[in-house]
Amino acid sequence: MNPASLSTAELDALAAGLNQLAHNLWWTWNQEAQEIFQELSPRGWQNLYHNAVAVLHEVSDYELRVRLQDREFAARVRAVLAAFREYMDEPATWGRQTAPALQTHPVAYFSAEFGFHETLPIAAGGLGILAGDHAKSASDLGIGFVGISLFYREGYFQQAINQENWQTEYYTQLHPENLPVEAVLDAAGRPLVCSVEITSGAVYFQVWRVNVGRNPVYLIDANRPENAPHFRDLTLRVYGGDTTTRIMQEMLLGIGGVKMLRALGLKPSVFHMNEGHAAFLTLELMREKVANGAAFAAAMAATRQECLFTTHTPVEAGHDRFSPELMEYAMHRYCAQLGLPWAEVLGLGRVNPANGGEPFCMTVLALKVCRAANGVSELHGEVSRHMWQELFPGKTVGEVPIGHITNGIHLQGWMKGTVRRFWRKRLTTSGTGANWDREINSPEFWARMADPAFISDEELWALRYGLRRELIEFARRRLGMRNTAAEFIAFDQLLDPDALTIGFARRFATYKRAPLIFQQMENIVRLARDPARPVQFIFAGKAHPRDDEGKRFIQHIIHLSKYTDMQGHLVFLENYDVHVARQMVSGCDVWLNNPRRPLEASGTSGMKAGCHGCLNLSILDGWWREGYDGTNGFAIGVDAHAPTIEEQDRVDSANLYRTLTEQVIPTFFDRDAGGVPRRWIQMVRRAMVTLVPQFSTSRMVAEYTKKFYTTS
Ligand SMILES: *Cc1c(COP(=O)(O)O)cnc(C)c1O
Repeated sequence: MNPASLSTAELDALAAGLNQLAHNLWWTWNQEAQEIFQELSPRGWQNLYHNAVAVLHEVSDYELRVRLQDREFAARVRAVLAAFREYMDEPATWGRQTAPALQTHPVAYFSAEFGFHETLPIAAGGLGILAGDHAKSASDLGIGFVGISLFYREGYFQQAINQENWQTEYYTQLHPENLPVEAVLDAAGRPLVCSVEITSGAVYFQVWRVNVGRNPVYLIDANRPENAPHFRDLTLRVYGGDTTTRIMQEMLLGIGGVKMLRALGLKPSVFHMNEGHAAFLTLELMREKVANGAAFAAAMAATRQECLFTTHTPVEAGHDRFSPELMEYAMHRYCAQLGLPWAEVLGLGRVNPANGGEPFCMTVLALKVCRAANGVSELHGEVSRHMWQELFPGKTVGEVPIGHITNGIHLQGWMKGTVRRFWRKRLTTSGTGANWDREINSPEFWARMADPAFISDEELWALRYGLRRELIEFARRRLGMRNTAAEFIAFDQLLDPDALTIGFARRFATYKRAPLIFQQMENIVRLARDPARPVQFIFAGKAHPRDDEGKRFIQHIIHLSKYTDMQGHLVFLENYDVHVARQMVSGCDVWLNNPRRPLEASGTSGMKAGCHGCLNLSILDGWWREGYDGTNGFAIGVDAHAPTIEEQDRVDSANLYRTLTEQVIPTFFDRDAGGVPRRWIQMVRRAMVTLVPQFSTSRMVAEYTKKFYTTS
C-alpha cells in the first residue's frame, strides 16, 4: 500500500465528519465547508439546490472514500472539520463570559417560522428569516439558546406564474432524510412523542432537531400515526388552512413547545416569543405552576418574570385574533386545568376583559404575560406604544412598557461567496483571513472600507461590476427556464450589464407597494431607455395565497415587463426565496424600498444589500430611518408621512422619482477619466462603514442578551 494513502480509520473519521457537518447549518456560513460539498458533486450541488445532505446521498460511500484519497482534497476536509470542532468547543465565547447562567438555563426562543437556508423552506418571509439569523448569531456569540418551531412537511408554497401572469401556488413534500434535520429520540431510541390537549383529545407530535452551530432548534411535527388524519396535517403548511388550523398550530407551538422542552429535561430561564403566534406558551407555564399548587395570580406573576415578547408589525392583520367560539372549541378542555373561570381565560386575550364580544388576541395575551416587550426599530417601538396604550390604563403613550431593539442580519450567512472571499482577503489585518470570524462583526473591521489602502476604488468597482453580471446571468437563466415559446424573448439580451440595476424583492403585501414606481410610467420608461444612462429593474416576491391584491401587483409588473416599452428593462423573477434574495441583494446597485410609512416595522433585505456594497433607496421607515445619515445611500422623502393613503402614495411616488433623477442616476453615471464613479464608490464605502456592523444580528442578539436575557 502507498504509505501516503489514508487508512480505513482515517477514511471513516473523515466520512463521519462530513456527514455530521452536513447536519449542522454551520456549513452554510463557512465558505470552505460549502466549497467541499459543491466540489463533491458540482451538478448535484446545483440541481439539489445547495443541499449538503442530499449531495452526500448523491455521492456513494465508495466514491467518497476514493475521492478522499486525493491528498489535497483530504487536507481541506480535515481543515474544515478542525475549524468546525474548534467552533463547537470554544471555551471562552462572549456568551459564556457575559451570560454564564444561560448555559444551563438557556433562552427558549419560539417562532412560528425559521428561515435558515433555501433547502429548508419553512419560512414565509422576513419574520422567519430574522428568527433564523437570530439563532445563528446566538450560536456565534455562544449564548445558551434553543429554538422552537413547527416542522411543515410541505413548507411554504412555491410560486409559479400562469399564462395570465397570475400567481399560482404549489407545494412539494420535504423529506427529513434529505434535510439537515435529525429525529429527536427518547431514552429507548424511539422518536420522542409528546401531546397537547386540543379540542377534546390529545394530539401527538414528534420532534426534529436542526443543529444551528452550537444550538438546537426543535421542530414539532404532528404527522404521527396516533393522530386522526386531520390532526396529522396540522403541521402541513406554514400558516396553512383556516383559523381553526391556525389556532391549533399555535397550541402545538406554544403549549407543545413547553411540553417538549420539559420532556427533554430543559429548564429555560427565559421564554422569548418572536411575534404573538407562540403566546399560548404562557398558559402552559401558568398551568404547570397551578398543577404544583400555586394560586392562579401567583402563577401568572411568576410566569411574567420568565417571558419576553417581540412584536413585529403595526399592520392589523398581523395580529392573530380568535373568536370566543373558536377558543371554546379548541381550548376549553385544555384551559380547565388553569384553575380559572372560562370567562377570565378569555379576558387574558382582551383589551377589555369584560367585553364578551371581543375576540382573543395573541398580542394582548403576550403583552399581559411578559416582563418586557419590544418593537423592532425605534419608530416601530413608538408606533407600538400608541397601538397598545389602551392595555395600560393610566399610562401616557411614553410610559407604555414597549421598547425597541432594531433588527439585523447574520452577516456571514447572507454574504455571497464572491463577496465573503473578497472582504476576507482585503479587510482582515493579516490579509489571510485568519481571524475573519472574530473580526467580521466589529466596527473596526468595516471602518477599513473607508481606506483605499485596503481596497482601491477601481477594485471595488470591479467587484460591483462582477456581482451585477452574476445577477444578470442568473436572471437570464431563470427566465429562460420558465418562458414559453409564444412569449419568447431573446433571454440572453434581456437586461444590460452596464445599466444601473434597481432591485425590489420581498413579500408582496400591499403596504409594501411594489408597483409604486410605475405610477410615473412615462417618466420611468424614458429613464430606462436612455442610451447614455440606462436604468433597469428586477422584481421578485410572493403574495400570500389569499391576497388577490398582492397577486394583482405581481400581474401588473409582469405585464409591464412583457408588453410595454419596459420590455428588456424590467423583469420579474419567480419563486422568491433565500437563494433568489442572495443573488438580488448582491448584484443590484440600488435596493428599493417604498413601504407605506410607518408600516414597515423594520425591514431587513436592505441590510443584506448593504453588506454587498449595494446602496439603499428607501422611505425613512423602519431600520432605514436609523441607518440613513445623508452620505450612505438615498432617502425618499422626509422623516414624516402624509395623513391619508392617497396623498402618501402620490407624495411618495413623486419623491421617489425626484431622488432617482436628481441623486441616484447622476451619481451613478458620474464617471471620471478612468471611468470610475468616484462619488458613488465613496457612498458605498460610507454605507459599509456605517451600516454593516450596526445592522447585524450579532449586535442585535448581544442587545437582547444584555437588556433582556440576563436581567429579570
Ligand atoms: C430578507 C428576506 C425577507 C424580508 O425582507 P424585507 O425587506 O424585510 O421585507 C423576506 N423574504 C426573504 C426570502 C428574505 O431573504
